[in-house]
Amino acid sequence: MSYSELFALYPLLFPLVVTLVGLMVGSFLNVVIYRLPLMMESQWRKQCHEFLDLPAPEGEEPETVFNLARPGSHCPQCKHAIAPLENMPVLSWLLQAGKCRHCNAPIGIRYPLVESATALLSVLVAIKFGPGWLTAFLLLFTWALVVLTMIDIDHQLLPDDITIPLMWIGLMINTQGMLVDLQSAVIGAIAGYMLLWTVYWLFKLLTGKEGMGYGDFKLLAALGAWMGWQVLPAIILLSSLVGAVIGISLIVFRGQDRNVPIPFGPYLASAGFITLLWGDTLSGMFSSYLA
Ligand SMILES: [Zn+2]
Repeated sequence: MSYSELFALYPLLFPLVVTLVGLMVGSFLNVVIYRLPLMMESQWRKQCHEFLDLPAPEGEEPETVFNLARPGSHCPQCKHAIAPLENMPVLSWLLQAGKCRHCNAPIGIRYPLVESATALLSVLVAIKFGPGWLTAFLLLFTWALVVLTMIDIDHQLLPDDITIPLMWIGLMINTQGMLVDLQSAVIGAIAGYMLLWTVYWLFKLLTGKEGMGYGDFKLLAALGAWMGWQVLPAIILLSSLVGAVIGISLIVFRGQDRNVPIPFGPYLASAGFITLLWGDTLSGMFSSYLA
């Protein structure tokens, strides 16, 4: 019996498998979200030192291995290595009541939240698109959006290491027309970049401030490469809408200074995901509204 027959026979099996995979991947995404920016920073520091011909910074061991796999996960408080049983997505956090088993230091609720959100978003994709290659690629797309959202919230940064491969993969799958035809994808990538690039320069000329970063252009280029130029207006509209609502409520309710930059990446990423899943419904609603 092939996998597709098995999934056809038990309709709940595929969503269940994807939920479990989503939980485990979410746990890995937590590592990427935490470590990738640190790895980038240490790389930049090293490059600056080399470029300026400076000696290695004091007090820093130059050859400490730090990547996505090493050192193994440990409690930041007591440095106790986290055993596999303490590393089960969501479950371990609940069993340990959100505390380290050794020193009782609190473990942030964002870890189980990222894991559950990853599982939930993955299963939505699985239900909408069913078993197959397209879903496999769309899961990668979804996971990349989760990482970009969290890193942008933490650091106001959308790493090239994620946005650019994401764009290439979008163009690649559309050479086979998996989501849209190749022409729409290529124009989508170019137009996505140009659109925000133009907004950025207009905003800068008018106000002298930088409203967003180059990472935002690359993220919209990636979304255009996956879903075609046709979705760009909807993504811009949705992200500005959500961004305005959240931005204004932050200023009103939390008294946040309106000059504090608010990352735009999370809104682009959510708008991209919403468009992927419900774009057809939304554009139907929109056109019936206009007609
Ligand atoms: Zn501890």
